[in-house]
Amino acid sequence: MPYRYDPGELGTQEVEIAITHCGICHSDLHLISNDWGISQYPFIPGHEIVGTVAAIGDGVRSFAVGQRVGLGWQSNSCGECEWCTRGMEHLCPAAEATCVHRNGGYADSVRANARFVVPVPDALDSEHAAPLLCAGITVYSPMRDHGINPSSRVGIVGVGGLGHIAIQFARVFGAEVTAFSTSAAKEEEARALGAHNFVNTRESKAMKEVAGTQDFILSTINADQDWGVYMQTLRPTGTLCFVGIPPSPVSIHAFPLISGLRSVTGSPTGSPHRLREMLDVAARHGVKAQTECFPMSKANEAIEKVKKNKVRYRAVLAN
Ligand SMILES: [Zn+2]
Ligand SMILES: [Zn+2]
Repeated sequence: MPYRYDPGELGTQEVEIAITHCGICHSDLHLISNDWGISQYPFIPGHEIVGTVAAIGDGVRSFAVGQRVGLGWQSNSCGECEWCTRGMEHLCPAAEATCVHRNGGYADSVRANARFVVPVPDALDSEHAAPLLCAGITVYSPMRDHGINPSSRVGIVGVGGLGHIAIQFARVFGAEVTAFSTSAAKEEEARALGAHNFVNTRESKAMKEVAGTQDFILSTINADQDWGVYMQTLRPTGTLCFVGIPPSPVSIHAFPLISGLRSVTGSPTGSPHRLREMLDVAARHGVKAQTECFPMSKANEAIEKVKKNKVRYRAVLAN
């Protein structure tokens, strides 16, 4: 049976979106099984949302009913703290996630503060744009923060939901792009997405050959690896950045950090400003998620397929 709820009166700063598409993100799977201990049931997952504005609160001036919009991981923030006023709302201590203690996007409609709703450029079709709202911004934002440019050598670890978009954006930034994957079968696809080089990480010889070649390595995978080997893959001043979460603590020696001024960091989603910018860049440069579409009523089947790692590369639910 579908779950029904009464959303109450629309807040003055809120937008109600009639959902047409919602991507399935791995965070949804973690929330469904309460892996992070923050889920509340009944639970509606979903934070890669595209739809049309169905209603706006009295105080909303930035959107009109009928306009096509997107909504990602974040739905609200305090609007007043240091991070909000610096345009880094995703770092606000009072940030509200779209589907944590709120009803998310595997639904007919969803509500959010208007500051977190973004217009979707005409050039992007809704199915391929939906995964950009979380997977896209997650890989785009750190590349912007770390100044990726045509002189950069960027490694993308994992050719999956996040990685296949990351390869495209790294290429748009003009970088030399190297895809790292445990699966030799991904090479052709990685190159078609824009990777100049491909490294099969199961071959220690191949990993040794790329030692000292990368300026920025973005790890999109949720698996444990020998991170020391990746540190050796960095050039001096290089950065290893995590956007996927390996199950075990990341263990690395301090020596390569010290000797080569290297660093290790991570990155969460991005600000609303960045989200708009990312969609604009995707529209102008043809970046899009490769998707498999399921009717919303088949959400459970789609989730099972994602869990079995059988979707290339992002599942999207459509109403
Ligand atoms: Zn997500
Ligand atoms: Zn704030």
